[in-house]
Amino acid sequence: MADYVVPVNSEYAVDDGLTGQQLFSKCGGLTYNDFIILPGFIDFVADDVDLTSALTKRISLKAPLVSSPMDTVTESEMAIAMALCGGIGMIHHNCTAEYQASEVHKPGAHCRHVFAVKKEHGFCGIPVTESGKLGGRLRGMVTSRDIDFMEESRHIHTLAIEKVMTKLEDLITAPAGVTLQEANKILEESKKGKLPIVNEKGELVALIARTDLKKSRNYPSASKDENKQLLVGAAIGTREEDKKRLQLLHQAGVDVVLIDSSQGNSIYQINMIHYIKKNYPGLDVIGGNVVTASQAKNLIDAGVDGLRVGMGSGSICITQEVMAVGRPQGTAVYKVSEYARNFGVPVIADGGIQSVGHIIKALALGASTAMMGSLVAGTSEAPGDYFFSDGVRLKKYRGMGSLEAMSRKDAKGSAMDRYFHTEVDKLKVAQGVSGSIVDKGSVLRFLPYLQSGLRHSCQDIGARSLFALRSMMYSGELKFERRSPSAQAEGNVHGLFSYEKRLF
Ligand code: GDP
Ligand code: 5GP
Repeated sequence: MADYVVPVNSEYAVDDGLTGQQLFSKCGGLTYNDFIILPGFIDFVADDVDLTSALTKRISLKAPLVSSPMDTVTESEMAIAMALCGGIGMIHHNCTAEYQASEVHKPGAHCRHVFAVKKEHGFCGIPVTESGKLGGRLRGMVTSRDIDFMEESRHIHTLAIEKVMTKLEDLITAPAGVTLQEANKILEESKKGKLPIVNEKGELVALIARTDLKKSRNYPSASKDENKQLLVGAAIGTREEDKKRLQLLHQAGVDVVLIDSSQGNSIYQINMIHYIKKNYPGLDVIGGNVVTASQAKNLIDAGVDGLRVGMGSGSICITQEVMAVGRPQGTAVYKVSEYARNFGVPVIADGGIQSVGHIIKALALGASTAMMGSLVAGTSEAPGDYFFSDGVRLKKYRGMGSLEAMSRKDAKGSAMDRYFHTEVDKLKVAQGVSGSIVDKGSVLRFLPYLQSGLRHSCQDIGARSLFALRSMMYSGELKFERRSPSAQAEGNVHGLFSYEKRLF
């Protein structure tokens, strides 16, 4: 076999393909399918590719994956799975503020809750603090052993929790700053299920569970905050009542809020950003949606920490058809990211992600993370029950602007004033559809497949990390090419009588 010499310092200038700038300056709006990325040079293994990326100015994720705040996509189960795999879930707000906050926070400290938690989750072990919240002075713990011999029907429900709990003096705790390894050792030696972490003032700063440690072994890239709690985001609107919702979400420990609007460049959103920044300076805010640099400018000027990009590109979306407003997603991501990077504001590419290839294209155009609706809908962690149609196992997936979502009436309540609002605006105009999606199994299996696919793609491109991928794009080293309709047909399976497409 011939020896290949790598032309590191070739005297021949190679001029092949288009830079990102050329790709987007020479044509109208492009979707992800309208272009392809040209391969680069490989001198590392795919496992070495670092997928760390910024969600907002202050929050970074080990995997650039975000689940959409939709009522058929993200509630607590999805958010937990997303965070365990290194991404983050955004809890939707098509429900009462109380329901949304309960999806974000941990159960309170009353006997009734102990039973409820045990019934619902099959475990219990709840710290009792003076304020009833994380951050309050620790008084004790209620565990299953404290209530094992008590019947649910007895008056225990109304007893003060202090009477049954294990008191502080009998508890094993660890000081703030303890490492996970040390905590692991304490749990192992004490044979306890839960380890409260307490600061020098005696305040509860975190609770480490044996199951968490097992999970942290199984999910080493999990997204966590400084208290080692899984990261979680939540969506809010721009109405006056959303300020109360925000307060509840903040109390519940939300790590980042996302202002959910299809056209985010509005006085309402700007006012809400100012309000959040003034009242919750520690909370990161994602604004949007935007698809142009001038929309982005207003939200960046107002102080957002991240931007959500996309208008009309979602799989369930009819905005471009009905409103005639929007932008093809490839161009939207490129143009907004190019502007926002001057201010250090990361971009989430939202909508139209149908494959690993679409995620890597979004990232190659400057986005830092990709938001998925349909890609993770239909998994066992998505809200809703499976049903069968013609022998196929399905789950519901619907646009938040579909008539069905806007008129939601169930125990979770409806708060869908995103697409239908004012008193005069009596006639609903749908901006989305309601449909179904095939059972995809668990996201805990699907997300590792996406991450592995992203690593292999970066390897083909010659980028060791997502940071490298973006800097290759902005330096002009990363090359693209337009795809004609026949190039797209060629790039898909063709010429077969039948085939089965199994992805992993
Ligand atoms: P979208 O449909 O996803 O863009 O949802 P939004 O909630 O952002 O906006 C829907 C409509 O409500 C638009 O016409 C907004 O301009 C309007 N809107 C949003 N927030 C407010 C508000 O606080 N007050 C009033 N009067 N209108 C609002
Ligand atoms: P998907 O990943 O399914 O292609 O798109 C999901 C995205 O579509 C969501 O994150 C959200 O931005 C957008 N979306 C959700 N519901 C609706 C809707 O009813 N109408 C429109 N126009 N967009 C929607």
